[in-house]
Amino acid sequence: MIAPATIDRRAIEQVVRQVVLAQLNAAGGSSGAAERDAASKLVVSISARHCHLTDEHVEILFGKGRTLTPAKDLYQDGFYAAEETVMIVGPNKRRMLPSVRVLGPTRPASQVELAFTDSISLGIDIPVRPSGKIDGTPGCVLVGPAGVVELKQGVIRAERHVHMNFDHARQFGVQNGDRMSLLIESSCSVVLKDLLVRADATSKLEVHLDTDEGNAADVDHATRFELLKQ
Ligand SMILES: [Zn+2]
Repeated sequence: MIAPATIDRRAIEQVVRQVVLAQLNAAGGSSGAAERDAASKLVVSISARHCHLTDEHVEILFGKGRTLTPAKDLYQDGFYAAEETVMIVGPNKRRMLPSVRVLGPTRPASQVELAFTDSISLGIDIPVRPSGKIDGTPGCVLVGPAGVVELKQGVIRAERHVHMNFDHARQFGVQNGDRMSLLIESSCSVVLKDLLVRADATSKLEVHLDTDEGNAADVDHATRFELLKQ
């Protein structure tokens, strides 16, 4: 009789790591420490104006029984840009943003995230809020191919923030809800203060800025990013 093999957990982890690294190398062409640190690499992303919708609003805007169609995966696992877009109409009804991307998955409350430049062109005075904290914020009208939704509230400029997992948070010495600064070295170097730390079990390390912040700091041509404890 053959004795059941003792499973060495560390050996298995090492094999899995090698397989994952081999796949990363095959996909990316480069090798070494960059891949090993891939999950901890600081990514700075610019979120262009977009909206989040409830299931109910998706059906009103795009048709009965319709769900969002994932078009492009976002950096954070499970999140995507949908094929669907909506028109956003401001309070004076003559100004609008014609094609605002919907991000998925759906949420319990619909929310529109704009840069200040967008809100000025729409004629709405919007507050800076963390995602989901929309009580008392202005509304707008959403227009889709199948219908119209009048949002009573939910138009915000999303507060700059950094996603991370609990391991990253420990390494930085911060906790969920704390604030950090982000150094951006570029043709327009800046230090952005008061990034909200959004730590959970699974997020990748990623800063979310809006187009006003990102373009002001020339993030697309930046040579260095560094998160600083404040
Ligand atoms: Zn985010």
